[in-house]
Amino acid sequence: MTIQSACSAPVVGSQPPAQLALSQLRLAGSARTTVPPNPFSLVDLQARRVEYLRVSVTDRCNYRCSYCMPAEGASVVPRLDLLNFDEITTLVRLFVDLGIRKVRITGGEPLVRRDIVRLVGQIAAIPGVQDLSMTTNGHLLADLAKPLRQAGLQRLNVSIDTLDAQRFAIVTRQGSLAAVLRGLQAADAAGFTHTKLNAVVLRGLNDDELVALADFASDRGYILRFIEYMPIGVDNFWGPETFLPIAQVREQLATAWQLTAQDDHGLPGGGPARYWTAVRRDNPARTLRLGLIAAVSEKFCQLCNRVRLSPTGTLRECLSTAGSLSLRDLLRGGQSGTVVRNAIAAALLGKVDGHRFDQAQPTLESMSAIGG
Ligand code: SAM
Ligand code: SF4
Repeated sequence: MTIQSACSAPVVGSQPPAQLALSQLRLAGSARTTVPPNPFSLVDLQARRVEYLRVSVTDRCNYRCSYCMPAEGASVVPRLDLLNFDEITTLVRLFVDLGIRKVRITGGEPLVRRDIVRLVGQIAAIPGVQDLSMTTNGHLLADLAKPLRQAGLQRLNVSIDTLDAQRFAIVTRQGSLAAVLRGLQAADAAGFTHTKLNAVVLRGLNDDELVALADFASDRGYILRFIEYMPIGVDNFWGPETFLPIAQVREQLATAWQLTAQDDHGLPGGGPARYWTAVRRDNPARTLRLGLIAAVSEKFCQLCNRVRLSPTGTLRECLSTAGSLSLRDLLRGGQSGTVVRNAIAAALLGKVDGHRFDQAQPTLESMSAIGG
């Protein structure tokens, strides 16, 4: 698509379904329908098609990961400022009208949001949501995996940076490896498949465990993603002492695992992870699907297919920029679905071409407020 056609593509809202008033945008049925490509698709000025929405449902968290927030915790917004479930559901429906097909629920820690299972059910029931997933620290998953699955959640990403209980407690400050492992077991038992493990690579903290994490994921049939540490939410923690470029991760893994780039490796629309098939050198029967996310050292912004909704309803066009459009205020001000959709499309035209992570001037906003 040319930039010119990209510019004209997202002007939306003069015909159905754009005419629906917000009051009409109620849930319809629970069947997951296959919706054809949407003529109102969101395309930005770089001709990137945006079809993946990350919904951060809370900025609160039961952990205090050292790479995400300060030891005393990040400040949180008053509860009344958070989007309520009907507002979240209404907004997801509007995004779906605009071509969003994948929705990920994140946080803070999404499982600490009261009644999260009900919200999952509401989003799962929206026709057109073809892929509904959640990123969680897994601490509360042991009790919630089954109800989440029953409510329509399709996939899980569970964050686990180390397999050493003591280290885990240090990195997460108040986390429990045992609880997360129980959560993963419960997820398996509840029928979740294609579960992804997310590990942020931290020099001096878990960089001697990369092969062990790969073995663990392979043995249990999980997909493993190593994430480069981004200078966000830093508390004098981000720096050359803690940052390890993904090229070095690849090198280390290659000592034990043979890595082959997959077909969907770095394809437009595929998102930021580069996927590899890994085969254990000493036992070719052991395999692993491996994702490497190099946000800082191998910038992937040209592949970006996502937009974020903050817990207070701010549209965040890029992880690295704060966003200024309050969809919550539009909803609470009684604006129609057409107005909200047009506002989203217009804001996404202004999505920056790439992140501005600056090692000299790190972003001080906590990742827990952004949702990863
Ligand atoms: N609480 C949930 C969790 O930890 O999975 C969801 C929110 S968390 C902000 C989403 C993802 O962002 C997690 O996988 C976490 O490891 C990652 N993350 C947090 N801070 C990060 C940073 N500074 N650099 C890279 N990844 C980070
Ligand atoms: Fe909480 Fe997730 Fe941030 Fe850890 S990474 S503090 S679990 S939001």
